[in-house]
Amino acid sequence: MLRINETRLLNDLKELARIGATADGGVSRPALTPADIESRRWFQAKIAEAGLDYSMDGAGNQSAILYSDPPSEKRILAGSHLDSVPNGGRYDGSLGVLVALEALRALKDKGITPSVTLEAVNFTDEESAIIGLMGSKAVVGQLTAADFERSRVDADELTRRFSALGITRQSMLAATRADVLAWVELHIEQGTRLESAGIDIGVVNAIVGIRSIHVAFRGEAAHAGTKPMELRRDALWGAAAFVLRAREFVMENFSPGVVNVGIIHAKPGAFNIVPAEVYCALEFRHGADEEMDEMEADLIRLLEECAAEFDLSVTYEETPPVIPATMSESVMRAIERGAEALGYSHQRMLSFAGHDTQNLAAIAPAAMYFVPSVGGISHNPNEFTSDADCVNGANLMLHTLLELLTDLA
Ligand SMILES: [Zn+2]
Repeated sequence: MLRINETRLLNDLKELARIGATADGGVSRPALTPADIESRRWFQAKIAEAGLDYSMDGAGNQSAILYSDPPSEKRILAGSHLDSVPNGGRYDGSLGVLVALEALRALKDKGITPSVTLEAVNFTDEESAIIGLMGSKAVVGQLTAADFERSRVDADELTRRFSALGITRQSMLAATRADVLAWVELHIEQGTRLESAGIDIGVVNAIVGIRSIHVAFRGEAAHAGTKPMELRRDALWGAAAFVLRAREFVMENFSPGVVNVGIIHAKPGAFNIVPAEVYCALEFRHGADEEMDEMEADLIRLLEECAAEFDLSVTYEETPPVIPATMSESVMRAIERGAEALGYSHQRMLSFAGHDTQNLAAIAPAAMYFVPSVGGISHNPNEFTSDADCVNGANLMLHTLLELLTDLA
């Protein structure tokens, strides 16, 4: 059975971890900073060393290419991102790019010419140093000039970072592709579900949608000593009841969906005043849009119940949602067939974090799979995935690509 070269893959991981290395064992390579640029040069050199073709598009997305003969009009893409969060871990994104590169090298080593051209891709700015999922957004035509206005770096800095790479805002906006036949991404899980179930591979069936709601409970400010308890209209009582009941409610009715209240401000905010107004930032995530509609309706009903119980009023305002991305059944099956051929246990699961795959899903059959993260630690220098799981992930990438090629033959 065809396998990847383990030593070469693990050595790549080690070498790449030296670029932007932090003292505590992590890496810091925010998009288009000198460390990220260095990792891009390293990737390009690895591609040349492997005798693969190289290209970079107008969004700065880099590709290793293994051509079919003759070169096919459409291509199968695999990959992830080499940029990291500040002081992040060595595996997030990097492993996904390296296993895609390694799969192409393994095919080339065996003298295999694929029936469809294959690309191993490094997408620009996945981790939101600038815009977030920027390179993949550009490829699928979802990047707009307005996105640059919302950039986390100022306009001059953005120009500097782009010119370091030889790209511009215009080239970014023109980087749309129509030649993607399928997309597959490996990523570390960044959670503990695989580790606790003792499963090798998580086949992602959807990347969750995210809805956020600003909520304000309003009661009446009062003297915290003289106002009798039964007459108080304490806005925090309603908010507190909601936070705890929403937790129970979502666990009981919407598992594995999640809910979070991440900000609470009580006003006027004094020891001796009953809170008149409480602002809460409410966020919830689920894999299916219909479930999210239901969750939203039920959570709003719960808000109103909690307000009524404590004689409060409540208002809420939604922010633009992130729509859940459903993964392609045919690509998920290709991953599963690959896992079975290799003897890896697998289960389907949701991705609770965002990934480039959610953008690619808009233009092509797309799916992704996870390998276990020890302790679920991620966006942290202690992020760790065992060598054995990294190797499994790479062998599975190789066999997923072979399965996709067979499907298309
Ligand atoms: Zn990532």
